[in-house]
Amino acid sequence: MARLVMKFGGTSVATVERIKNAARHVKREFDAGNQVAVVVSAMSGKTNELVAWCKEAAPVYDQAEYDTVVASGEQVTSGLMAIVLQEMGLPARSWQGWQIPLYGSDAHGSARIEGVDGAGILAGFDRNREIAVCSGFQGINPRSQRIVTLGRGGSDTSAVALAAGLKADRCDIYTDVDGVYTTDPRIVPKARRMDKVSFEEMLEMASLGSKVLQVRSVEIAMVQRVPTYVRSSFDDPENPNPGTLICDEDDIVEQQIVTGIAFSRDEAQITLRRVADKPGVAAAIFGPLADANINVDMIIQVVSDDQATTDITFTVPTADYERAKGLLEAKHDSIAYQSLQGATDVVKISAIGVGMRSHAGVAARAFRALAEKGINIRAITTSEIKFSVLIDAAYTELAVRTLHSLYGLDAA
Ligand code: ADP
Ligand code: ASP
Ligand code: MG
Repeated sequence: MARLVMKFGGTSVATVERIKNAARHVKREFDAGNQVAVVVSAMSGKTNELVAWCKEAAPVYDQAEYDTVVASGEQVTSGLMAIVLQEMGLPARSWQGWQIPLYGSDAHGSARIEGVDGAGILAGFDRNREIAVCSGFQGINPRSQRIVTLGRGGSDTSAVALAAGLKADRCDIYTDVDGVYTTDPRIVPKARRMDKVSFEEMLEMASLGSKVLQVRSVEIAMVQRVPTYVRSSFDDPENPNPGTLICDEDDIVEQQIVTGIAFSRDEAQITLRRVADKPGVAAAIFGPLADANINVDMIIQVVSDDQATTDITFTVPTADYERAKGLLEAKHDSIAYQSLQGATDVVKISAIGVGMRSHAGVAARAFRALAEKGINIRAITTSEIKFSVLIDAAYTELAVRTLHSLYGLDAA
């Protein structure tokens, strides 16, 4: 007997028919004698609709009420999944975040999980192996007692945190692909499914745009040592594939230099031209952005010909672009720059691999390959196990495919 958490994403519960199919996977695990907690997302498209309603209700809205609205999508699917399981003759009940309880910080809209109390669910396991069908994405703040949500894609994090809280043997993330691929299979048909991927690499891939798992879910899996699989809910429930295991680097026998290519359209570029080149200028620019909670990612500073001024280019999340521009425009005089230019039609392409630690020149090969395709690089960043380039969005597919082939990742 094992204890499992099974998470089903939006496309896997998009209709009642799909929920019935997901329930067959749950039944298989239950019939095998396992204790099962299920985590469900909202039906696909539902959360977007709820977010749009908030925006329609008011241009600037109370984040706590936003959470109240968007958490409702998961409540519907958890109830429906419990009904379907009961109809199949299985003991099941739904659990909302506040009932579990799953505690979240008061950062409404992107709360961090502070803890999961699994006592109620465990009591159900002991009583009659009751299947706990939990709403993903949502929790409760223990101090304000208000509903919080965990950020887009947050049901992955609910699932892994619940698995840690229940001391589950495994967390299975069921989605619309049968595992983690070398890059998004929707963009590169030649992408290859990996049997295993290391925590470190998955963390980078997720943070650099591979939205197959929410970043925080990978962090929790890594820190709390939760064996986590990404697998398909569209497999035959009687004959499923194991999917991709996220595991320690040491458990992977054949290491590639580059294991994956990620891309993110969620970047915008800002360039400040002819900024006075004197001590404190970077602090004057990036201090206010940090104070406003705007994450700056790539930064390039170029000294201009006159040696008295410099051009500074950096990227911010697209969602913060207008706010960042507004802040810098308001500080035009104190920062003393000549002009501000911005672009949102850019994409960040990244290559990830723990092998980069021990191999030189990995990024240089990419710069050459992109140049040969006529793709101009606007900014570059590198770190121990990845490098990223910022390019025009129009070249996204070409660049991803070029790098995917360059590093030998194409399926035969
Ligand atoms: P869910 O609704 O189940 O949470 P998501 O849409 O959040 O599903 O995540 C699954 C999607 O992630 C896939 O359909 C795929 O297009 C995308 N994706 C991006 N990068 C990768 C990758 N490297 N491997 C697999 N899927 C990826
Ligand atoms: N329903 C939420 C979203 O669409 C959470 C999730 O699906 O993981 O972002
Ligand atoms: Mg998701």
